Amino acid sequence: MPIDPTLPYDENNIFAKILRGEIPSHKVYEDEWSYAFEDINPQAPVHTLVIPKGPYVSWDDFSAKASAEEIAGFVRAVGHVARRMGLVEPGYRLLANIGRHGGQEVPHLHVHILAGQFIGPMVMAR
Ligand code: 5GP
Repeated sequence: MPIDPTLPYDENNIFAKILRGEIPSHKVYEDEWSYAFEDINPQAPVHTLVIPKGPYVSWDDFSAKASAEEIAGFVRAVGHVARRMGLVEPGYRLLANIGRHGGQEVPHLHVHILAGQFIGPMVMAR
């Protein structure tokens, strides 16, 4: 069920619980600003999620409220994970679903890294 983007940050969303260690996850990378882990329901041979550690619902929320350090840290973490996983040459797709029309289900900003095979057309045909 897509989230309502007008709601405030929910401290009990599943990724907040993962960040607090209340729910297990398969860690791929972690630094001061970001955490990366395997998606529980992979849509490609490689399906990693990268999230900022701060309480941000979406890209617009993050870009409006996060500090420059948090933003730089998160952007660098996504690139770091891609490089570390050897995805630069075969290539990969970044995807961030936001809000209702974006089909976002977890109300904590996350970037999907999809790779390991051709990921297909950019969007489904209408
Ligand atoms: P969204 O649709 O919000 O962009 O993507 C949410 C993603 O989170 C989905 O790909 C889903 O499989 C993943 N996900 C949902 N719950 C969990 C969980 O408990 N653990 C992990 N690792 N991934 C989850």
